[in-house]
Amino acid sequence: GRVTPPRVPLRPAVADLPAYVPGARVPVGAAAYKLSSNENPFPPLPSVLAVIDDAAADLNRYPDMYATELTEALAARLDLDPAGVVAGTGSVAVLGHVLSAVCGAGDEVVIPWRSFEAYPIAVAVAGATAVPVPLGQDSRLDLPAMAKAVTRRTRAVLVCTPNNPTGPAVRSDELEAFLDAVPSDVLVVLDEAYVEFVRDPRVPDGLAVLRDRRNVVLLRTFSKAYGLAGLRVGYAVARPRLAAGIRAVATPFGVSHVAQRAAVASLAAERELLERVDAIVEERTRLLTGLRAQGWTVPDSEANFVWLPLGPRAADFAADAAAAGVLVRPFPGDGVRVSVGEPEATDLLLGVTAEWRHTRV
Ligand code: PMP
Repeated sequence: GRVTPPRVPLRPAVADLPAYVPGARVPVGAAAYKLSSNENPFPPLPSVLAVIDDAAADLNRYPDMYATELTEALAARLDLDPAGVVAGTGSVAVLGHVLSAVCGAGDEVVIPWRSFEAYPIAVAVAGATAVPVPLGQDSRLDLPAMAKAVTRRTRAVLVCTPNNPTGPAVRSDELEAFLDAVPSDVLVVLDEAYVEFVRDPRVPDGLAVLRDRRNVVLLRTFSKAYGLAGLRVGYAVARPRLAAGIRAVATPFGVSHVAQRAAVASLAAERELLERVDAIVEERTRLLTGLRAQGWTVPDSEANFVWLPLGPRAADFAADAAAAGVLVRPFPGDGVRVSVGEPEATDLLLGVTAEWRHTRV
């Protein structure tokens, strides 16, 4: 008979990768409100749209490879050395570059779990091994357990604060004790994708942490508070030597000039955008208060989403919410993450949760 020619082998780590978006299907078409991706419900500002329109005329040219105007604007805004700021195609891409800059085969990366679903994928793609550490009380990161999980092979620890999808952020006292416990040649990545939504004064600003610690890198994004998820702009802040390593492995020309200029324009319109963030934070309070008044036990959230720990009923809840017109993100077997969006969406969602309290929970 015929011999089948050998097939191109995939790297085993790649063949085994989980999907980024969990498998549970919800009827997307039915839902009027999309609360499933932690997006900003507000449309882009007219001033930002005007800049995008203008920048489009240069699309036959490559962008500035290092997004100089943007990194300088960020450095000025955050009072930093521009050499320490690296822009990339969304902070999820920057995370990949950070990991390829510091780790590879045989190395370990400690991650919290449950946390951002891209973490185990990014670690595996970098060739390293993810070491997941379960969340502790109240769906918070268990930093003492994460420090204990560090071995001689550990090259990095990912700290998601606020934690996606559960909501709590790490406090200064917890973080300082953790940083004291972790060896100074292990990189600590503070993923602050939702930092602009933090209101708890006990939660540190990563920039202050970075000033005293050489082994810390921050990840931030224009996708959430600045409402530019579709343009893909994120950045890392680190000491210049580390930043140079991240830049060295980054995708060339990864941030289009349309995106670069829109991000700069967003920084210029920051006051207006941060007022929107205030409105989202108020809506978050209304959602959390409403849920608790119905008898739900939900963790505090410092981000633009809340977590319903529904365990095995997560997928059923998401299907009911979709039928009511609200698309939420189920993590099957664990819980449901609901992004904070339009007040009408909050009302619809609270209708579903009230119904569930009466009939299911
Ligand atoms: N970090 C965390 C914790 C996130 O939740 C997200 C978005 N879901 C990102 C990073 C990535 O954001 P982006 O790539 O859009 O900057």
